[in-house]
Amino acid sequence: MTATASKALPHGRIHNFSAGPGAMPLPVLEQIKEELLHLPGARASVLEISHRSKDFDRILSETEADLRRLYGIGPDFKVAFLQGGASQQFAMVPMNFSVGKKAGYILTGAWGKKAMKEAKTVVDTQVLWTGEEKNFSSVPKPGAVNIPAGLSYIHFTSNETIQGVQFQGKPPVGEAPLVCDMSSDFLSRPVDVSRYGMIYAGAQKNIGPAGLTVALIREDMLARIPEKMSAIFKYSTHTEADSRYNTPPVFGIYAAGLVFKWMLETYGSLDKLEKANREKSALIYNAIETSGGFYKAHAEADCRSYMNVTWTLADSGLEAEFLKEAAANDLSGLEGHRSVGGMRASLYNAVPRESAEALAGFMTDFKNRKG
Ligand code: PMP
Repeated sequence: MTATASKALPHGRIHNFSAGPGAMPLPVLEQIKEELLHLPGARASVLEISHRSKDFDRILSETEADLRRLYGIGPDFKVAFLQGGASQQFAMVPMNFSVGKKAGYILTGAWGKKAMKEAKTVVDTQVLWTGEEKNFSSVPKPGAVNIPAGLSYIHFTSNETIQGVQFQGKPPVGEAPLVCDMSSDFLSRPVDVSRYGMIYAGAQKNIGPAGLTVALIREDMLARIPEKMSAIFKYSTHTEADSRYNTPPVFGIYAAGLVFKWMLETYGSLDKLEKANREKSALIYNAIETSGGFYKAHAEADCRSYMNVTWTLADSGLEAEFLKEAAANDLSGLEGHRSVGGMRASLYNAVPRESAEALAGFMTDFKNRKG
């Protein structure tokens, strides 16, 4: 025994801090298990029925309706359930919305940088702000981004999963529509969707299984799509076909629908969910802050992510031991991304508070013994 043993989770499951695919709500997993042989009504699983069947019609429409309810999405927005991951949107966004024009990028971490790199292959781009000189540990202060006129859109990443920096409060404003990669904080707090031209997110953090990508697209953006382009890469192809131009990721949509229902039943609203998320991360930041310098947070205090908490140990020689002991205490998925080093605890919506408590307890115990 190396530290205070954490209380095991049901079914002997680990405390899962994986950055993605990440933890799913246990009641959702249980329902999937239950329904995998026999979806009510269908007498087969969702994996075995047509995406154009009545049973799938119901799943798709309920999933969309619950998502609209959670975010308060207006009728001027289309919801698309896509494939290709957030990475495919890095390419599709400029192809659809910026041909012949320049797109602006705010870079607060590795994913924003990757999105711009991809956009550069098809359109002109401009860096509007970058946090790279400070190893992506900050976001621009309000008013700090100089936005020129004439941009096709302004792209930013609301939460940088690798660095653990997150925009707090209102998003940046400009004359051009905002396009946001919300992959790692989608549905983690209320968002005024009407401020955006488009929001997209890979599912494997807060939505459900990998393989599904959700996009919210303001209708007027669809008018910009060039005529001469492969149908499969046009957002309008998917919105016009109700996400069924071709076979959609049926299992992902089904599971996302269950996750949305779980959110509505457990929290009712996104402000309650945000509060729970902030409380979980506060437990970890508090363990860092009270460690007397034993642990050091990567992100600056005003933009610390409540989804991905990143930190290093003052004595990096102890990091391997930290991870080994953490694993022995059922605390899993804590190794930081190689570009930042140190540790990362991903505290997505489905990570229970008791997992954050167990990690915070372990961190303090480890520091007391090794510090
Ligand atoms: N953007 C962000 C913010 C991410 O966290 C990730 C995945 N970790 C991606 C994009 C890439 O997502 P995908 O693997 O779905 O393409």
